[in-house]
Amino acid sequence: MTFDYDLFVIGAGSGGVRASRISSSLGARVAIAEEFRVGGTCVIRGCVPKKLLVYASHFAEDFKDAEGYGWAVGERSHSWKTLIENKDREINRLNGIYHNILKNNNVTLYEGRATLVDKNTVKVGDRTITAKYILIATGATPVMPDVPGIEHAISSNEAFHLDELPKRIIVVGGGYIAVEFAGIFNGLGSDVTLLYRRDLILRGFDDDVRTFLSGELTKKGIKIETNANPARIEKRANGLTVTLEDGRTLECDAIMYATGRDPNTKGLGLEALGVELKENGAVKVTAQSQTTVDNIYAVGDVTDRIALTPVAIHEGMAFAETVFGGRPRAADHENVPSAVFSQPQVGTVGLTEAQAREKYGAVDIYKSQFRPMKMTLSGSSEQAFVKLIVEPKSDLVVGVHIVGGDAAEIIQSVGIALKCKATKAQFDATVGVHPSLAEEIVTMREKYTGD
Ligand code: NDP
Repeated sequence: MTFDYDLFVIGAGSGGVRASRISSSLGARVAIAEEFRVGGTCVIRGCVPKKLLVYASHFAEDFKDAEGYGWAVGERSHSWKTLIENKDREINRLNGIYHNILKNNNVTLYEGRATLVDKNTVKVGDRTITAKYILIATGATPVMPDVPGIEHAISSNEAFHLDELPKRIIVVGGGYIAVEFAGIFNGLGSDVTLLYRRDLILRGFDDDVRTFLSGELTKKGIKIETNANPARIEKRANGLTVTLEDGRTLECDAIMYATGRDPNTKGLGLEALGVELKENGAVKVTAQSQTTVDNIYAVGDVTDRIALTPVAIHEGMAFAETVFGGRPRAADHENVPSAVFSQPQVGTVGLTEAQAREKYGAVDIYKSQFRPMKMTLSGSSEQAFVKLIVEPKSDLVVGVHIVGGDAAEIIQSVGIALKCKATKAQFDATVGVHPSLAEEIVTMREKYTGD
């Protein structure tokens, strides 16, 4: 049977675009469908605009720090409108680049929502297209819990397009997005309350990191309310009233939910074809990203493995090389470094202490908390934290966690060390870069034995 294409990709985000580009370069005839904007969550309303907003927000602290270094910084004001316009211009530019990537790689773009008709056929609007392989790369979407008045709340999608900076904002959730946006709004001058339903933010991260970051965010003025969750949101003439489950009320001008993301599988027609989904709607896949239907694959957030752009890209590459490159390989999800662009940043790779203890029993811990050099003259009370987790029998470093300026930049290289299975002795044998925050990683000699 002949098909219109060798590969039809649904979703032109990070994973889908990379898979289509590489498949095309390996000789496949490729088409891709996108119902919103080419580039996907990361480029259009995720990592990229978020990081631009983090940069904007951090200037507030930079201006303050500058004074300790002798700079007289005049009166400061910030235009949210200018920031959003400039950010939008950059996102439009990147959107154009993504269109060009598809064009230059001979990938045909179908603009519209694609649904599956059978295992080799998709429909986009009134067009019917056939393909030998289908790749689902539809990403995920913010979940808004069913709370009375939730229609008055926004998600991160809308936060990027607010007409003005809210004077008072409540952020609900304790994950990546909540912590990052709480920092963004706080730096830009909003009064920020973070509501988290359990007792410590960033569940899943190392407990020391969670406690330390929580303290740093509080020092910067973010009001973190733990064991707190909205029961009801009401619109008033001068803002919103949020009634918590414990009966307390808070007033704000905006409430943003960052309570997780659901895989985009609804209405695609997957179940009818026998593509199995997990309980949360994510597509079940093998290590090689194959679904339960042999010619249908899935990569990225829709598979709910590790919901990070570079992971989706990696899965997309592995898919293309497996299916069209004759080099079958599984996507590698071990020792994936990641960062939370909170202020200060968190950089992490490998196991948390709890995970390491569970896996290995006894582990050696090295940790250090200190005042970064920059803060000595600036007068800022910001501190940094570095933690190493070592498996004592092999001496392997199995986890590194950093909180502090540039943690994201530092952890990338540490990720290489962990990928190379570096030992603590090799960390110790590495000469530090002085003076830097990163040198702490190679200069910790004393095992932590308890407070
Ligand atoms: P997360 O899953 O990280 O966090 C969701 C948070 O919302 C958790 O604190 C969770 O609490 C809480 N929550 C969930 N349901 C409810 C509810 N019904 N009511 C109140 N609170 C609730 O999701 P995010 O939305 O922050 O981010 C999604 C994913 O996107 C991340 O996991 C990450 O993989 C990716 N991402 C990565 C970034 C980066 O690399 N810097 C930046 C942004 C996103 P609990 O702990 O109790 O479950």
